[in-house]
Amino acid sequence: MLQCIATVCYNYVCEKRNKSSTIASMRTNGASHRPILQIHDLTKHYEEGGQSRSILNRVSLQIETGEFFVLLGKSGSGKSTLLNLISAIDRADEGRVMIGDTNITALDEKRQTLFRRDHIGIIFQFFNLIPTLTVLENVMLPSELSGMSRHNIEQRARGLLERVGLADRADAFPDTLSGGEQQRVAIARALLHEPALVLADEPTGNLDEDTGRNVLRLLLELTRDAGKTLLMATHNPEIVPLADRVYRIQDGKLVQTVDHTPVVSVLQGNRA
Ligand code: ADP
Ligand code: MG
Repeated sequence: MLQCIATVCYNYVCEKRNKSSTIASMRTNGASHRPILQIHDLTKHYEEGGQSRSILNRVSLQIETGEFFVLLGKSGSGKSTLLNLISAIDRADEGRVMIGDTNITALDEKRQTLFRRDHIGIIFQFFNLIPTLTVLENVMLPSELSGMSRHNIEQRARGLLERVGLADRADAFPDTLSGGEQQRVAIARALLHEPALVLADEPTGNLDEDTGRNVLRLLLELTRDAGKTLLMATHNPEIVPLADRVYRIQDGKLVQTVDHTPVVSVLQGNRA
């Protein structure tokens, strides 16, 4: 049954493939009012040279299902730290991260790894593909232990590779691909298991402008079409007007940007 639903959703994503869609048209989806992520009083410091450096200071935030949330902040402000705490790659000093109904901070390391694998998709600035595996194997790898049949995983992986325009590179190794192509593989890998939450840490930070724009368009298209929640740390100003909400990390706190009208509110206003 679940497999059936996943297939239907996936076909829906594939159907949308050929429809021309500009970034602007992606604004029409927006979020529902069901929190997928709740952060309470998250605090993190690092020790450096015997001194304590505060990175995040009692940060709280709620992100709704389907929302596209952008996180800005100058280099070193703590964007990656926050994403790593959300995905439990790193441990907070204090505070709590709830993903859906799960308090991921309270899980032991093994359960955190399993939870991350099943419910979170992560896209990194430097792609993090495994050089000794082919493109197809890279996309399939995180889902291999998920209980999904290998046949189903491969089918979905090939479908996603087609979706990101790399069907003909399935057997290539990552070092034969351009940066943009590698990031498209990483996007396919992050989305294969239909994660509830997609975290993207400066996904275009290592790409030239045009390539970055294409990768962003693709990422937005795929996550929005599938109703996924996307939390993106970025320096790319082009993306800001397309987000539902934009926050900045400043002096260890999250501050909502004042010059941005949240798209969700605009849409709600139009409907009213
Ligand atoms: P951003 O992603 O916004 O550029 P980061 O979250 O990577 O910033 O880093 C925030 C600050 O925390 C930086 O000053 C960085 O040097 C420091 N930092 C990150 N990880 C560690 C670590 N493992 N040990 C010590 N300091 C760290
Ligand atoms: Mg970073």
